[in-house]
Amino acid sequence: MDCLFCKIVRGEIPVKMVFEDDHAIAFHDIHPQAPVHTLVVPKKHFASLAELGATPEDEALLGHLLAVVSQIAREERLAEGYRTVINTGSDGGQTVDHLHLHLLGGRAMEWPPG
Ligand code: AMP
Ligand code: ZN
Repeated sequence: MDCLFCKIVRGEIPVKMVFEDDHAIAFHDIHPQAPVHTLVVPKKHFASLAELGATPEDEALLGHLLAVVSQIAREERLAEGYRTVINTGSDGGQTVDHLHLHLLGGRAMEWPPG
């Protein structure tokens, strides 16, 4: 499939990988917006959060992706906190149409987001 993150999942595009298991990978964002900016990506292609079904499998996958974020944040020692973002669709600012979670940390975040 001609999808950037599917290519990264298949190892066809080099990234700074920080995590991999049967269901997900995590790697450094190429344009980091914070000292820690990691993307957590399911190996299975979903265009966005809007594509996830209400099936037990999809719900379990989403829970797993959040657990991976939590694990990486611990490993990165983000004891002061961090932000987890899922941009969805054009209004959500999504630019890569393969579901992914941003883990941003290492600096104080602002609210509300732009
Ligand atoms: P979003 O705008 O939420 O869809 O996020 C897509 C993210 O993917 C952006 O933060 C990009 O910087 C990041 N990105 C795009 N291409 C690559 C790449 N080849 N390697 C790592 N991150 C990438
Ligand atoms: Zn994909």
